[in-house]
Amino acid sequence: SKDAGRNQLNFFSQEMTACAERRLLLENKLRHAISENLFTIQFQPKWDTCNNRLVGVEALIRWLDDDEGYISPDEFIPLAEDCGLIGTIDDWVCKNACLQIQSLFGSNQPNISLAVNVSPAHVIYKDIYKRVSTILDETGFPAQNLELEITETMIASEVERLYEDLNKIRSLGVEISIDDFGTGYSSLSRLKQLPLNTLKIDRSFVRDIGEDSGDEVIIRTIIDMAHNLNLKVVAEGVETDEQYTFIKQYNCDLVQGYLFSKPVPLNELALMLDSQVAD
Ligand code: C2E
Ligand code: CA
Ligand code: CA
Ligand code: CA
Repeated sequence: SKDAGRNQLNFFSQEMTACAERRLLLENKLRHAISENLFTIQFQPKWDTCNNRLVGVEALIRWLDDDEGYISPDEFIPLAEDCGLIGTIDDWVCKNACLQIQSLFGSNQPNISLAVNVSPAHVIYKDIYKRVSTILDETGFPAQNLELEITETMIASEVERLYEDLNKIRSLGVEISIDDFGTGYSSLSRLKQLPLNTLKIDRSFVRDIGEDSGDEVIIRTIIDMAHNLNLKVVAEGVETDEQYTFIKQYNCDLVQGYLFSKPVPLNELALMLDSQVAD
């Protein structure tokens, strides 16, 4: 009936208003968080599957809000992209992660690599090469220890525009990794065109190991393909022994996931590295 339709409409517009209000609130909080420096960084280790050593970390942003507790990056990163704040955030993370990891490069020199996530929006529309080289200059962080994680979706759509910048970044010694691989549609020829070092298999494939044999075939194929292109392969989101056994069996180079470690603050990372030096 007409009444029901009207109620329905009311319901939708209320939903939309609530959604817009939430966005506005979050955007204001985000601006506040940026100006007040309310972010922190956690580091999730990556292990070499050959010798079980911690060889690198991925920097992940954390935002502790006074009222709401931790707000997930999956909620605020897309918002930051929409309202043009992502550049400031990604630069902050990159610079501060470099400074923090560098503080560990002391006498026993853990030669670990540091990966930072760079938002597609940021890479495409701003001068990523200039920004990364500026951060390296400012921090003195060794370029060959830095790695940029960019998502596959971006690679697929923006390969021509990215080509030059990524090559310049590679010439600094910085490595480039494709994140969330398998979720986009990048063709082999595109991958070959770009100066990539690493490919990260998306968690959604790893999650279904033992349950979905289709995903297992995909994982094996991705690993083989990557190795043929001389790329290292990281499996992300490894949570079980079964998943680990599977990816190791197919010679996946690196592994990351809760089975080994959640993202941790710098002091915990330092302890893990210390105990590794000890053994
Ligand atoms: P991502 O780059 O794919 O990062 C991996 C996410 O999976 C992280 O979530 C990590 O905590 C989580 N994870 C790691 N191992 C496991 C596991 O074994 N099981 C499960 N269930 N999850 C695992 P997080 O930190 O919440 O970040 C979510 C996404 O937000 C990231 O996905 C990335 O796209 C984005 N993000 C985080 N930090 C930054 C940043 O500094 N800049 C940008 N542009 N994006 C960021
Ligand atoms: Ca990532
Ligand atoms: Ca990922
Ligand atoms: Ca992801």
